[in-house]
Amino acid sequence: MAPSRSPLTRPSIVAAMTELLGPQAVETGDEQLKEASVDRFKKYTAVHGIFDGPIPAAIVYPSSTAEVAAVLRFAEQNLVNVVPRTGRTATEGGLETVVEDSLVVDGSRMNAITSIDPVDMMATVQGGVRLQHLEDTLRAQGLTTGHSPQSKPLAQLGGLVATRSIGQFSTLYGGIEDLVVGLEAVFPDGTVTRIKNVPRRAAGPDIRHIVIGSEGALCFITEVTVKLFRYQPENNRYFGFLVDEFSDGVDALRELITAGYRPSVCRLYSPEDARQHFAAFYQGRNVVVLVAEGPKRIADATADAIEELFADRGHERVDSGLIQDWFENLNWGQDKIDAEKADMLEHSRLGYTTEVSVDWSRTSELFEAVMSRIRREFPRVGDLTMLGAHSSHSYQTGTNLYVVYDYTINSSPREEIEVYHKPLNAIIVEEALRAGGSMVHHHGIGKYRTPWVRQEHGSAYYLLSGLKHAFDPRGVMNAGTIFPLEPRESAGQP
Ligand SMILES: Cc1cc2nc3c(=O)[nH]c(=O)nc-3n(C[C@H](O)[C@H](O)[C@H](O)COP(=O)(O)OP(=O)(O)OC[C@H]3O[C@@H](n4cnc5c(N)ncnc54)[C@H](O)[C@@H]3O)c2cc1C
Repeated sequence: MAPSRSPLTRPSIVAAMTELLGPQAVETGDEQLKEASVDRFKKYTAVHGIFDGPIPAAIVYPSSTAEVAAVLRFAEQNLVNVVPRTGRTATEGGLETVVEDSLVVDGSRMNAITSIDPVDMMATVQGGVRLQHLEDTLRAQGLTTGHSPQSKPLAQLGGLVATRSIGQFSTLYGGIEDLVVGLEAVFPDGTVTRIKNVPRRAAGPDIRHIVIGSEGALCFITEVTVKLFRYQPENNRYFGFLVDEFSDGVDALRELITAGYRPSVCRLYSPEDARQHFAAFYQGRNVVVLVAEGPKRIADATADAIEELFADRGHERVDSGLIQDWFENLNWGQDKIDAEKADMLEHSRLGYTTEVSVDWSRTSELFEAVMSRIRREFPRVGDLTMLGAHSSHSYQTGTNLYVVYDYTINSSPREEIEVYHKPLNAIIVEEALRAGGSMVHHHGIGKYRTPWVRQEHGSAYYLLSGLKHAFDPRGVMNAGTIFPLEPRESAGQP
């Protein structure tokens, strides 16, 4: 879809926002606007203070659904591009403001926990509630959402739903799509939609999925209701195993999952990736990490199955205390993000990831194809300081592959994305699609993976593009996200 072009000037957009929301809800400081023009994490140019893209007109902080509706209605009427944001942990360019004078609509002041219902096992929260805050509140009451992405300290419910996020315990609890019961969202014409909370229904297609994963390109999520589970960490059983071949690890995980067991954590690290996490004990081998949890009898039964299966396969067991310690320090808060940025600046290096998914039968083949093609074809292969992968979310039919790569940057900061990230990302995405898998498992398409969105969906792209036509007909929602940006002259179908 072609980007919208507003006839309004920047001062008139700012004046209108100030009138709608009040001055305390409109940010126009230079530094804040520059930082709001990009994803704040791993943007190598931004770390060097380089902001080449369009800078938004303002960041606005609505404090109610009605205010979100008023802002979106104004934006649609005046063709102002809107970039929704909450926790700002996006990694795929979803927060980049690619249109001049965009409005960044920040939902983080809508941060109330509306209700916690321990009978019907649901919590309803505004979209700006940090997941960590919700989890801390729930755990104090013996409850949990079961959702634990590594970005939990920062990410907020609106963004977590908008990106179809997934957490470390997903093999037991599922991704956010399995956890959302109902939600409220505002569409660009100002329509407020509440999808009601029911255990299940067969009243037409599941309309929650129009919103879940929409990445700010269709609507603004203002409220979310998620399922709750009992929090009983006292039953957790931790396991680690050393495995000689990556394919042996894949086979073991497949056997465990397809036999019907659901460990909450189910991970396999290639030796290169394992070295960053388990240097003290990995011995140059692949590492499998598993956690059994839930009611004691279920956790114990899962633990028994894990012990038996890995013993039968002859894989060496690691002290479970080491795995528990590692696991408890896995999440990323602002301190780790700041430390990584300082490291990027000081040492001219960057670590990045591309996560894809694929059926069990093609997982090892995809791993080998990606590793060998990068080593063979990537022109700057000599600058790679680490190339590995892990599988961290498993399903009855397959798993995800999270390719991780670190490199030293021997180019100007501006060239980093073209010289390093884009070619590496392209190889991984292309190989995933070639293997019949998905080009993106959980970070969203953002703006960086749009070149492949049609290939990803094939004939079903008809359904996806129909949503954009139906719900954002004037193209004001997060231009360039999910749907490739096209020049105005050649604007065709989204
Ligand atoms: C260190 C780190 C670890 C991560 N670990 C994980 C992980 O384990 N699992 C995982 O799935 N992801 C992970 N991510 C990616 C990211 O954190 C998640 O995708 C998260 O869901 C984004 O939430 P957020 O609140 O930060 O959203 P933001 O970064 O603010 O926004 C993300 C996208 O959602 C849109 N959006 C935000 N709020 C709204 C709203 N209210 N309505 C509509 N659209 C909205 C934005 O326009 C943007 O496209 C990680 C990222 C980092 C930096």
